[in-house]
Amino acid sequence: MDFIMKVFRYPLLFILACFASTYAQDLSFAEELFENHETYKVAGFQQRRIKQTEVLSAIDKAIAQYPGVFESRIVGTSVQGRPLPMLSFGNGDIDVLMWSQMHGNESTATRAIFDLLHFIGAQQETPQVQHLLNALRIHIIPMLNPDGAQEFQRENALGIDLNRDALRLVSPEAQTLKRVRDSLDADYGFNLHDQSRYYNVERTPKQASISFLATAYNYEKAMNDKRQDAAQLIGYLHAINEKFIPGHTGRYSDDFEPRAFGDNIQLWGTRLILIETGGFPDDREKSMGRKMNYVLIGSALDAVATSSFEQIAEFAYWEIPENDRKLFDLKIEKVQVTVEKKPYVLDLGINFNEVATADSYILDASLEDRGDLSTYYAYEVRNAEGYELIVPKRYPKKIKTIEDRNKLLRQGYAFSRLNKEGAFGFKGVQSASPLLEDAYRHVTFFLQKEGELEVLVLNGKLIQLSDL
Ligand SMILES: [Zn+2]
Repeated sequence: MDFIMKVFRYPLLFILACFASTYAQDLSFAEELFENHETYKVAGFQQRRIKQTEVLSAIDKAIAQYPGVFESRIVGTSVQGRPLPMLSFGNGDIDVLMWSQMHGNESTATRAIFDLLHFIGAQQETPQVQHLLNALRIHIIPMLNPDGAQEFQRENALGIDLNRDALRLVSPEAQTLKRVRDSLDADYGFNLHDQSRYYNVERTPKQASISFLATAYNYEKAMNDKRQDAAQLIGYLHAINEKFIPGHTGRYSDDFEPRAFGDNIQLWGTRLILIETGGFPDDREKSMGRKMNYVLIGSALDAVATSSFEQIAEFAYWEIPENDRKLFDLKIEKVQVTVEKKPYVLDLGINFNEVATADSYILDASLEDRGDLSTYYAYEVRNAEGYELIVPKRYPKKIKTIEDRNKLLRQGYAFSRLNKEGAFGFKGVQSASPLLEDAYRHVTFFLQKEGELEVLVLNGKLIQLSDL
């Protein structure tokens, strides 16, 4: 819908937006948080794969470091018997409930929360933090799904997606969240997740590094006062995210999901804000996501304590561009592929999938799509116009040294006879004469220009042969 249409369709909102635009949002607190994150970043939590033991010791540390500020109590138990602690602090009348990592492999907000506790504890005497602590009573369940986190998986130990268990409440973790929500009848709720790194901001190549949602509470996606408050608060947070990582904010789909917690918590009368952390360039472990969660959650608490977000028009929320899923890790554009001796030009969309190892992961490439991918974007784009895809040859003997390997690569070998002989990154293939499908399956091939092999794509990694 273009601008003029919007003016006709939403005249009242347009007028409100004009008023809102005269209100200059004070970003100084957010700026302070953005600047001081390094100072308050707690030790550890460098990677996304965190386990509950780290969270429990971070809770103990926060309580011991700042006596009298934070308290913790066990509010439930997971399927496998892990405790579910909830941290509480502040003495105000406004109840705020946050929970993170109900999906076990979505840890970014958990990591950020402890940075924020460190900041709040250290700055408890400053007027702004004092006001926050006097206005709010904040309750945080970090890592609602510790069993899932142990395996770095989405679901809990029953294999249940906790965010589809808000009605039936089969899982003890879901029962805990419902019981806590009801006992507090919280005024505000923050539902903290991670989303796919392949989400972009619609019709742009920018990652949806942060996406927001004022969750719908019915199929009609109606707005009531509370959902509107959530939308205004998000409008406020959107301006903050855009200040620091411009173009990287998306609006999550508000399709109603009757079994989800966010949707029901909004329905049960808590103003519900969903924050989803997505990808960011050169940041697979989401350091920027952690930092922006620190800034945004801290700013949100301040905005609720001071009511400053109420000056933002709801319109600002609907102006946030929607999420889309149009990203690959690597896009190779316009490569020539020869099939039945005829040339065809196509784009290749490649992703790197994380394959778990004992305590970390390795990346394994997969070809996700091919053809006209001109409506897609990627973390890395390689223009291969004028290049021909060459299927690697299979080397029948054992490779002994790196020098041998480099020589073989320059001669067009990149497959080996057996996987166990496939040291040096060579993949084992069965056929003595590998086919195009082998090249696709292993995302391993050469790019040749004017009869010369120039680039090796080895399990999705681009290597200039002249660099070897
Ligand atoms: Zn999630």
